[in-house]
Amino acid sequence: MSNGTAPNGDAPHPTHTPSQRYLSTRGEDADLSFEEVVLKGLATDGGLYIPEEIPETPQWQAWKDLPFIDLAYNVLSLYISPSEVPADDLKDIIRRSYSTFRAPEITPLVKLQGNVHLLELFHGPTFAFKDVALQFLGNLFEYFLVRKNEGKTGRDRYHLTVVGATSGDTGSAAIYGLRGKKDVSVFMLHPKGRVSPIQELQMTTVLDANVHNLAVTGNFDNCQDIVKALFADPDINSTLKLGAVNSINWARILAQIVYYFHSYFALARQSESFNVGDKVRFVVPSGNFGDVLAGYFAKQMGLPIDKLVIATNENDILDRFWKTGRYEKKATHGAAAEGGIESDGVKAHEDGVKETLSPAMDILVSSNFERLLWFLAYHFAGSAGMDDEWNKKQAGQEVSAWLKDLKTKGGFGPVYKDVLETARRDFDSERVTDQETLDTIKRLYKEADYILDPHSAVGVEAARRSVERAGDVPHIALSTAHPAKFAGAVTVALQDEPGFKFDEKVLPTEFVGLDQKEKRVKDVENDWKVVRGLVKKEVEEELSQY
Ligand SMILES: *Cc1c(COP(=O)(O)O)cnc(C)c1O
Repeated sequence: MSNGTAPNGDAPHPTHTPSQRYLSTRGEDADLSFEEVVLKGLATDGGLYIPEEIPETPQWQAWKDLPFIDLAYNVLSLYISPSEVPADDLKDIIRRSYSTFRAPEITPLVKLQGNVHLLELFHGPTFAFKDVALQFLGNLFEYFLVRKNEGKTGRDRYHLTVVGATSGDTGSAAIYGLRGKKDVSVFMLHPKGRVSPIQELQMTTVLDANVHNLAVTGNFDNCQDIVKALFADPDINSTLKLGAVNSINWARILAQIVYYFHSYFALARQSESFNVGDKVRFVVPSGNFGDVLAGYFAKQMGLPIDKLVIATNENDILDRFWKTGRYEKKATHGAAAEGGIESDGVKAHEDGVKETLSPAMDILVSSNFERLLWFLAYHFAGSAGMDDEWNKKQAGQEVSAWLKDLKTKGGFGPVYKDVLETARRDFDSERVTDQETLDTIKRLYKEADYILDPHSAVGVEAARRSVERAGDVPHIALSTAHPAKFAGAVTVALQDEPGFKFDEKVLPTEFVGLDQKEKRVKDVENDWKVVRGLVKKEVEEELSQY
């Protein structure tokens, strides 16, 4: 790891912080620093990085009245050793990451109806929950790169080239997280004319020199294939350091743990009948399993979460796992690929994936589920009464075997009964159809005068069902996007409601006039070698500026 010293290197730090190291879910890559894990993204054995220990936080109740950024520091510093990022530096990174949010509480909690509260995660620059993590990740990248490059000039500088494919959601959040950052370029490929108009404008109106939008003549799969080809290409890898920002990056999960604590405390402040120590359920609209996995970490750290309710759309591989213990792609024909390093899982247009009204959850296989599998296998190994090292080794082997079956046979399971029982102890699941999504948007508009985006509506419908079962336990449903980002579905749901006008009721001022702004986007043909040439040329131009 880098041991460059920052100005505040000897600042005092809470004594509870252990030295946190990371290992791979497939067992062949271990003892990594946080910095290595963040810059590498994917482990060398193909697995995902997880912390060696989930820190226990007996003092968590004392965090009750902390503002978001102080709470964030307390959570994050348990996973990032002060020898890697000194306290004052981490505080500064956090403060800058959340200064871009429009809401003073960063992630406000609003009462929806009855026992259901809504955690609004869409007050960041691109109006979706991914900003919470990507604003932080962008600043982390910059911090590590600046430190690596201290005293270096020109060609000697470590320059990161982030390449990704997007069907709309990840792209804009990644671009806003990385725009204007030193020593990092970002190339975001989207299928020309096939992402929603708002999402396209959000990406292409960013004019920073290090941001490169490439509109590919083709579909999302073509974009994804180009990115895969680049990551596998020795030529480009010999000249550039490629990086990824999809949700397999550990720093994204980490940043998301914070709002579970923050909203829990907000509920205690806002509700007279709810006290710190009482149980709560979180309901999480899920695709790639990154958001709800952060809740699992919060629960392991001690937050009194009764259940984490996974809400899927009709792409229901997660829901099927909790119902049957089998994790299967269930593709009807053709080979389906797994979620790789280039994007968030496998998205629409793939055999077996259904295009729904909640496109950010149209995923065939949830990449981050592998992290939960490791913990399930680790827990199971623990029942044999051997030492921790043996349990970890077993877990890595079990995960490797499951993932191998997923790749070669399209699925695995049923898993052992005890494994499934452990999974059911912490999680519940619900599957919500497109029709139910529309009905929920309509119902909440009528009953609570609240306009949900389709992803959040999937969560709210799952919450309604969970309340029927769990009666008195308060529910916090996560709202993952602003409704204006998904104008199509919202309009379909509400167009017949008297007095409903999209421009008045939904459209934020930030989106008005976006189509009049200057754009920066290059059209490219569907040919990975052409894209490679372009990436190399444009990075070259950027580097010549240093
Ligand atoms: C990415 C996304 C999700 C799914 O989150 P995962 O971490 O992939 O489970 C849900 N809603 C919206 C709006 C998103 O952009």
